[in-house]
Amino acid sequence: MSEVKIDFDAAGGVDLSRLERSLGLRGERVAEGRYRVTGGSHEHWVDLYTAAHPRCDCGDHLWRERICKHILAALLREGNERVVEALPTLLARVRAA
Ligand SMILES: [Zn+2]
Repeated sequence: MSEVKIDFDAAGGVDLSRLERSLGLRGERVAEGRYRVTGGSHEHWVDLYTAAHPRCDCGDHLWRERICKHILAALLREGNERVVEALPTLLARVRAA
């Protein structure tokens, strides 16, 4: 199993609003750690295991250097611990709203 080359803390951690939006996206695994993410206004390509930047071709990741909803959608499908751990917090926030 490859290590995800993402520094969560440097990228501001798992953002709950982005995580919520990522749940409505579709992720198609095309190769190891590589996903075609659809369901938003544009199709985006994610590469989780590249050490090269960027790992997603969307503006949120390119310009703000955040972990965007497309990367989150891919990480969810990989069962990434940091993202799965954020789900209860997201649910609690949705319930409280
Ligand atoms: Zn993205």
